[in-house]
Amino acid sequence: MIRMDRRCLTVLQRTVLAVWPQEGCALLLGSAVGEGILCLTTVWPACNRWGAADFDLPWTSAQNDARDRNFVLDPREQLSAQRWCRSRSQQLIGVAHSHPSCDAQPSAADRQRGVPHQLMLILAAEGEMQAWWLGEDRQVRPVLIDVS
Ligand SMILES: [Zn+2]
Repeated sequence: MIRMDRRCLTVLQRTVLAVWPQEGCALLLGSAVGEGILCLTTVWPACNRWGAADFDLPWTSAQNDARDRNFVLDPREQLSAQRWCRSRSQQLIGVAHSHPSCDAQPSAADRQRGVPHQLMLILAAEGEMQAWWLGEDRQVRPVLIDVS
């Protein structure tokens, strides 16, 4: 289960949907508060670096125009967030991204490129939001979202 308050939900929605019709993304910071319960406390806005000229990953360079169907985070941004977390007793618990033109199901690319043992939160443009846990085997399990 992932818990968040309404403030976090609003920040999350505004952050990842702001770049529509491109895919938006954000890092999810928080902590484990019990067995299988993660608490989201900070939404860290991140740029979708897919196809960026100065960010040449082998799998992004061929499809520069595909930021509406793909996203990639800058590892330097993840390091900054992790550094910020350390002094605040928080940790990187997952990544959120939007699906501007389809539902909130993880794509094959999401399962392939995601980081195992992390939360994957997907927001569809119509407002649907679903959370998933990515296993080592690249399979996803649905995670309950509790907004209070
Ligand atoms: Zn996706």
